[in-house]
Amino acid sequence: MAQYDYDLFVIGGGSGGVRAARVAAALGKRVALAEEFRFGGTCVIRGCVPKKLYVYASQFPEHFEDAAGYGWTVGEAKFDWSKLVANKEREISRLEAIYKRNVEGSGGETFHSRAVLVDSHTIRIEAEGRTVTADQILIGTGGRAAAHPALPGHEHCIYSNEVFDLPELPKAIMIEGGGYIAVEFANIFHGLGVETTLVYRGKEILSRFDMDLRRTLHDTMVSKGIRILCPAVSEEVVKRADGRLDARLNTGEVLTVDQVMLAIGRTPNTENLGLEAAGVEMDKQGAIVVDRFSRTNVQNIWAVGDVTNRVQLTPVAIHEAMCFVETAFKNNPTEPDHDCVATAVFSQPEIGTVGLSEDEAAKRFKHLEIYRTSFRPMRHTLSGRQEKMLMKLVVDGDTRLVLGAHVLGPDAGEMAQLLGITLKAGLTKDDFDRTMAVHPTAAEELVTMYKPTYLVKDGVRIDG
Ligand SMILES: Cc1cc2nc3c(=O)[nH]c(=O)nc-3n(C[C@H](O)[C@H](O)[C@H](O)COP(=O)(O)OP(=O)(O)OC[C@H]3O[C@@H](n4cnc5c(N)ncnc54)[C@H](O)[C@@H]3O)c2cc1C
Repeated sequence: MAQYDYDLFVIGGGSGGVRAARVAAALGKRVALAEEFRFGGTCVIRGCVPKKLYVYASQFPEHFEDAAGYGWTVGEAKFDWSKLVANKEREISRLEAIYKRNVEGSGGETFHSRAVLVDSHTIRIEAEGRTVTADQILIGTGGRAAAHPALPGHEHCIYSNEVFDLPELPKAIMIEGGGYIAVEFANIFHGLGVETTLVYRGKEILSRFDMDLRRTLHDTMVSKGIRILCPAVSEEVVKRADGRLDARLNTGEVLTVDQVMLAIGRTPNTENLGLEAAGVEMDKQGAIVVDRFSRTNVQNIWAVGDVTNRVQLTPVAIHEAMCFVETAFKNNPTEPDHDCVATAVFSQPEIGTVGLSEDEAAKRFKHLEIYRTSFRPMRHTLSGRQEKMLMKLVVDGDTRLVLGAHVLGPDAGEMAQLLGITLKAGLTKDDFDRTMAVHPTAAEELVTMYKPTYLVKDGVRIDG
């Protein structure tokens, strides 16, 4: 008789957990997975997927405006928030069912329950009030929006979880934060016709992205009508007699809005998970500490995804899960590769980026060649929209290796996926130069910037 009930027990049915459970079960392992909320996790239920659907929804007013230059007369457009919410719900429920089915179809067992560790091999399935045992345990409990208990009136604020299902579209919203979630929602609400103010404590939105993109996106958002106040922070949120909120900022300004959304960071879901009982180590932020194979300090307990606070993106959680299965069940120790992760910000215009920013590259490389172009994309010629597209390649002047590729403009996220391959493959600027352009596209600029726009030597910019 087997020593344990399962070969693998996975806690958390999000991007990482579901993938690991599915693949391990398909190998013939006895696998169970517990999800306390909805299968699919943050990405499917209240992250990437619904967010992108809302981005699409918010882009239509600009499409309607742009259509005029192409000869179209578009009649009066009306937007129904509750219809969008309902349709979004239908789509994520469909995906949720697929995620659950994928685990079960591979032979895994699922529990709709919170699960906590009792010791290093025992898990309590709370909804059933019983314990089970497992040889290997994988924690993929993800993270949640960081709360702000120090802010007086924080109980009146919403987070990314609630934002998708608001009973009605606010007339005015204040979003606090400067990361991609804050920036994306500022664009979504503005596009849907909401008076939007973004408040960020830093000097410029989207820290860690290339400064050129950050500034250009900032300016474009402002020109569309989004107010961006930075550096600034809210000091108090007061509920008024009319039900609206007054957000008082440290600048002295008071914003009267219908909703205040806080998007000030993410916290790993590790509280009351029984980690202490099992002896699993956490860092100061509460993230689970893992080695390069995603193994915790307890030999048979592993963790992947946002709960480990490495790179908090869906494809990264999935990749870590695949590496975990290779290591734990296929006798093929495989380290997740976190280098050169391409990513997008679904702002409007969009950002697509991979590799080093110019500032980051300047710290590590003596000679840089910067290829930069800013132009009005063809689709905006007849529409009359003044928005510019920005493309930038950061190249090591000594080896010609492309170190970073950054795009701001329509379809930048799609371009980042392909640029990601080129950087991962270690291609040089000469490889870009000998690649034939696809005409007429915006992306062709990436292979037709033959001369550096400027050089950076020992961190100093040299215009030539
Ligand atoms: C608004 C928003 C937008 C995003 N947009 C993008 C994007 O565009 N692209 C991108 O790549 N990433 C995006 N992300 C990040 C992405 O969603 C996460 O990186 C990804 O979901 C992490 O996967 P995970 O498996 O680590 O955790 P999660 O997907 O968070 O899954 C964890 C699951 O564990 C469950 N759980 C927690 N504790 C327990 C317990 N004790 N017992 C049972 N179940 C438990 C939770 O209910 C949850 O379902 C976004 C995130 C947010 C919040």
